[in-house]
Amino acid sequence: MKIETELETLQDTVIRCRKCPRLVAYLQEVPQHKPKRYRDWDYWSKPLPSFGDPNARILIIGLAPAAQGGNRTGRMFTGDRSGEWLFNALYQFGFANQPNSLRRDDGLKLDDCYITATIRCAPPKNKPMPEEIENCRPYILEELDLLKKVEVIVPLGQIAFAQTLKSLRLKGFEIPSLSFGHGKVYSLRTPNSQLQTLITTYHPSQQNTQTGRLTRPMFHRVFKMIKKNLEVES
Ligand code: SF4
Repeated sequence: MKIETELETLQDTVIRCRKCPRLVAYLQEVPQHKPKRYRDWDYWSKPLPSFGDPNARILIIGLAPAAQGGNRTGRMFTGDRSGEWLFNALYQFGFANQPNSLRRDDGLKLDDCYITATIRCAPPKNKPMPEEIENCRPYILEELDLLKKVEVIVPLGQIAFAQTLKSLRLKGFEIPSLSFGHGKVYSLRTPNSQLQTLITTYHPSQQNTQTGRLTRPMFHRVFKMIKKNLEVES
């Protein structure tokens, strides 16, 4: 089966997933308390599929959809503040065809980049429970199998970083203890002895961007590092 078809089949399974009762209930509750500015929206309120270029060399791993963002629009990072930063950076560095994305049908296309998340349902207060992360892990493990061209993995924020390391170890990567920080670069050896690179970044959450913990130059520096890494590899 073609990778595109396998990824689509996986995402169809994700959309129908109901493994986490707390999150399933929360997704039904969110549209009942819409902010005024979104009152005309018909919320997606299901697990979110991953998306992007099936032949991507960059894999971006977020934490979880935002209740009023991706959970509303039906696509990861679409229509939320983190997405404004992420899509802007992807566009600036040639990995997306437009600098922002507000709706699922707005024509956004990713090039050489695939976006997934640690869990696919918006959790209350953006805080998933450990068992919910474990329930969702098989989906990312399958994506790691299917996305065969990935060379650079970029988890957004500390939780995604820790959970990505756990997933990679489960896939057989030998990874020593690694510390989180902004703009760290680690070389990882895959189970079949190929090299992949992991680049760390603070999450472009409103909490980080509004407080100045993460600035545009800091975030763009990470994308320069990604670019440089791909150029060295190719
Ligand atoms: S978080 Fe993941 S495992 Fe839990 S219900 Fe949503 S898609 Fe399923």
